[in-house]
Amino acid sequence: MIHQSNPGASYLTHKKSIDEAISRVLNSGWYILGQEVSEFEREFASAMNSSWAVGVASGTDAIELALRALGVQSGDRVITVSHTAVATVAAIARIGALPVFVDIDPARYTMSPESLEEVLTTTEGGIAKALVVVHLYGQPADMPKLLQIAKDHGLAVIEDCAQAHGASLDNKLVGNWGDLGCFSFYPTKNLGSLGDGGAIIGQKTDLKDHLLRLRSYGWKDRYISEEFGVNSRLDEIQAAVLRAKLPHLQEANAQRNKIAEHYDQSLSDLKIDLPQRSAGSYHVFHQYVIRLKSREQLISRMKSLGIGHAIHYPKAAHQQKAFSNPIHRPTPLQNTESMVMDALSLPMYPELTIEEIKKVVDTIKQAVLLSKSTQQLV
Ligand SMILES: *Cc1c(COP(=O)(O)O)cnc(C)c1O
Repeated sequence: MIHQSNPGASYLTHKKSIDEAISRVLNSGWYILGQEVSEFEREFASAMNSSWAVGVASGTDAIELALRALGVQSGDRVITVSHTAVATVAAIARIGALPVFVDIDPARYTMSPESLEEVLTTTEGGIAKALVVVHLYGQPADMPKLLQIAKDHGLAVIEDCAQAHGASLDNKLVGNWGDLGCFSFYPTKNLGSLGDGGAIIGQKTDLKDHLLRLRSYGWKDRYISEEFGVNSRLDEIQAAVLRAKLPHLQEANAQRNKIAEHYDQSLSDLKIDLPQRSAGSYHVFHQYVIRLKSREQLISRMKSLGIGHAIHYPKAAHQQKAFSNPIHRPTPLQNTESMVMDALSLPMYPELTIEEIKKVVDTIKQAVLLSKSTQQLV
């Protein structure tokens, strides 16, 4: 069996330091918002080149609290992509804000600046308040262009970096381009804990102080709520696990890139679209996503040989029941809808062996050749 993602393998790789970290917390007698969280926040901020980091309970919470900190309120419009984990959109909706979708760039699979311009000039009845840009699959979005448009229209900018820990564009790490950067530490992410977790990074101290209040009932001092706030805390055990894994993030991302290069070279002569790396970007390959017409044939072959696969995503956000109202999509989302039909995520995690990669490649080659020969028969 070859898994598509494999958080268990990551645990085994770092077992000794993770076990030590967990037992350190268990023995400390302090389990919520203590030294592990504050040390992790310091270390994560430093690794991400930001001024500070605030740990929260999940990536979805990170986006919700970031929106709140930037003043987004119920009824406000927030622009994002429909081609993303539905979590991005759920975070916007949880505030009572209205998610408005723009299309993706067909080469990068991230927010299209042209589509953003179009939506901003055609949307009726309301000015958007903020933009949530997603660095999907580990590929940085076109931040220089998107930031310029956001500036022209007075939009706050949040980066959803849940799939892009350590990715960069023009040598600037993601999460530092917009007003706030949001991360998830869900176990399968490039930096994953052993449960739920998330963080927000930024530069401005007032935003940090606001986020610290928002994650703890609006408390300024203990038991004194200065404003509305929720309970969204990264716990000590997860923070300790993340501290054990953070020093290995770069090598894990480098390993993902090696696997991607291997896929690139082995699959380049087949008639399938391979992921592209945009100029000046360091892609961290949270997913290696190919596109091909006869996806179903390959999937059934992979299944029969015990090779994991995934589709990110079988429905775009605007095709989900909760967000299907046309109010969410002022313009057509053609590139998004076409991706839903033919995207396929191959096995991708740092511990994949060369033999496993070869087996995946051989399976794809055979399936593609087979589909060609059957097409000739028709
Ligand atoms: C995983 C993910 C999230 C949400 O993170 P959780 O920690 O699961 O809440 C948000 N956006 C994207 C793009 C993701 O991949």
